[in-house]
Amino acid sequence: MGSGIQAEENAMKCVICKTGEVKPAIVQAEIKVGRDRLLVTVEAEVCQECGEPYYSAGALRHLERVREDFTRNAIAPASVGKVYQVP
Ligand SMILES: [Zn+2]
Repeated sequence: MGSGIQAEENAMKCVICKTGEVKPAIVQAEIKVGRDRLLVTVEAEVCQECGEPYYSAGALRHLERVREDFTRNAIAPASVGKVYQVP
């Protein structure tokens, strides 16, 4: 948008579209567990161009733990919607 100032040399570029800049953002990561899907709010770096999220090792560990907890029924998050299957 014509800002013209790109001083940050370590600004990450997206490896998918190769043009987008990747910036920290709070996103909802989707994890599939069988037929269920979990939306987990985590911090990630998100491409401003194509929206590809990049998760840190810590975020991935968190997602993995949430999946395990859910699988073991250790947590029972509130359902925020339903999935309808139309034949
Ligand atoms: Zn991208």
